[in-house]
Amino acid sequence: MKHDADILIVGGGLNGPALALALAGGGLRVTVVDARPAPARAELGFDGRAYSLALASKRLLSVIGVWPQIADKVQPILEIKASDGHAGSGAAPFFLHFDHAEIEEGPMGFMAEDRHLYAAFLAMMQAAPNITLLSGETVTAQSIDAAGASVTLASGKTLTARLIVGCDGRTSGTAQRAGISRSGWGYGQTALVTAVEHALPHHGIAHQFFMPQGPLAILPLPGNRSSIVWSETDARAAQIAALGDDDFLNALRPRFGDFLGEIALAGTRFTYPLNLTLANSFVAPRLALVGDAAHGVHPIAGQGLNLGLRDVGALAQVLIEAARRGEDIGAVDVLERYQQWRRFDTTTLALGMDSVNRLFSNDNPLLRLGRDLGMGAVNALPALRRRFIRTAAGLEGDLPLLLQGKQI
Ligand SMILES: Cc1cc2nc3c(=O)[nH]c(=O)nc-3n(C[C@H](O)[C@H](O)[C@H](O)COP(=O)(O)OP(=O)(O)OC[C@H]3O[C@@H](n4cnc5c(N)ncnc54)[C@H](O)[C@@H]3O)c2cc1C
Repeated sequence: MKHDADILIVGGGLNGPALALALAGGGLRVTVVDARPAPARAELGFDGRAYSLALASKRLLSVIGVWPQIADKVQPILEIKASDGHAGSGAAPFFLHFDHAEIEEGPMGFMAEDRHLYAAFLAMMQAAPNITLLSGETVTAQSIDAAGASVTLASGKTLTARLIVGCDGRTSGTAQRAGISRSGWGYGQTALVTAVEHALPHHGIAHQFFMPQGPLAILPLPGNRSSIVWSETDARAAQIAALGDDDFLNALRPRFGDFLGEIALAGTRFTYPLNLTLANSFVAPRLALVGDAAHGVHPIAGQGLNLGLRDVGALAQVLIEAARRGEDIGAVDVLERYQQWRRFDTTTLALGMDSVNRLFSNDNPLLRLGRDLGMGAVNALPALRRRFIRTAAGLEGDLPLLLQGKQI
């Protein structure tokens, strides 16, 4: 049977384009369908959204050709400092301090703005001869049989492929239509996300202040700017979100502290309700899930996209190697290799971040003492500290070739 593409990717957010470029680099024909009209998103100015990309994610982006386009627009993360904080009293002395100089590979991560990352993905996809991008098109139905898979778009068009990959985010319709259920729970927390300008330089240091209501991350951007991910209880976040810009800054200042001098808003303000959502299977016949469609996690460690890019590296490697061997890339035994590689790792990390959030998002004095002592111990042991830094850099575990910086 002749298909429109080898692989049809539903979702052109961030993981969808990364997967498309990785697969196209291995000689496969890919169609990407994205509900969002692409040019509108790429033309946006800075809107406050930015991601911390681990060193391993940078390697993948380098191999698929995206990194050279954003390299001069990212901010290296040179140090990470974590501390307990209290609104009104600022942050206590930090109890964890990771310095990139303790590993030989370089900065453990980089902050990249959504507008630059997405624009680079878009340009690369449009230039790739074996990628077809359909923007502003929504998948409404899918069907799967022994010979192949097909999707129907809202416009009435039908597309066929040997495999469908759902990169369609936390409420993945691809998973729902395949009957894949999800597990998870809400955190009762909402993240307030924006960017601020500050008077003093950040020196490439990322800060995590653990407040009883939820963590506040201050992540360095190029220039005297930082990205803010400020988690609060849902009710409190709704009140803060409703404030005007000046009152929002007045609420932020006592939490942020004055270590970077005077602050001002430098981006749009967003809110994201926080929940954990894990697909109960990452694969089905002729179907795989990648990124948030497979696992939506708490942003406490800035790992969501990094986990997704690990999926991208693993799935691309499994599919390209299977195609080279002449195997059917939609066969369950091929897709199971991807699931075995990624599902345990992802679930462990998702539940780990869940525990960290629970441990830190409270004011119980015993827990506070215990975690400060525990983190103090980590900080005092160079071998353990190095292990944490390597984990933050995405260098631990069974790394797919792309995350080692190698071609498949
Ligand atoms: C507050 C916050 C801060 C974060 N910070 C970080 C960070 O610092 N570092 C990090 O690594 N991660 C971070 N993350 C996580 C990161 O944002 C996500 O993991 C990542 O954006 C997921 O990308 P995705 O491509 O899987 O899904 P999405 O970005 O959700 O993209 C899904 C795409 O699918 C499309 N789509 C959906 N349904 C259909 C359909 N039926 N037909 C066609 N298209 C469809 C949508 O239009 C969308 O473009 C953060 C998340 C939050 C909430």
